[in-house]
Amino acid sequence: MAKKFVRAVFPGSFDPITNGHLDVIKRGVNLFDELIVAVGNSPLKDQLFSLDERVDLIKPLIAGIDNVTVQWYDCLTVEYAASVGATVILRGLRNLTDVQYEFQLAMTNRAVAGIETVFVMTGEQYGFTSSTLIREIANLGGNVSNLIPQSVYEKLKQRLIEKNR
Ligand code: ADP
Repeated sequence: MAKKFVRAVFPGSFDPITNGHLDVIKRGVNLFDELIVAVGNSPLKDQLFSLDERVDLIKPLIAGIDNVTVQWYDCLTVEYAASVGATVILRGLRNLTDVQYEFQLAMTNRAVAGIETVFVMTGEQYGFTSSTLIREIANLGGNVSNLIPQSVYEKLKQRLIEKNR
């Protein structure tokens, strides 16, 4: 039987992308034929970068990884996945709080759209890295340079200066 081509999406808000997200991308891409990093809006989170800016921050970081692309989307994740022909959602897990939330999300997505979710465990050095915390720490003047790529750090510093002007 011919092997099926498997396209996966890795949805998230990526505001901004962190070393933890990159770790998930690098682990995840080995599991599929193609991976699309899908940047979406989270209505519950304050946004620092626009969807276009988040995509532009991610592009150079994945340029060297085969079979990974990035796009933004503005609809339900399961609708977006279907529209690009993806049959799997990739998500990362950091801790038991993530498990609880992600379990519910994955069950709901399977119930409403029949789509499976595949999880990868975070690299242990990234277990505490979250975009939300990075935004908060940076906003209060903390140094987050070892949690995000250098190019993202530069853009973040610039954005906070503009925002607090
Ligand atoms: P955050 O929770 O950082 O605001 P996102 O909404 O962008 O992030 O998260 C997208 C996905 O990436 C989620 O499945 C989330 O659990 C996962 N993720 C985020 N940070 C990490 C990390 N440091 N290690 C593993 N997975 C992560």
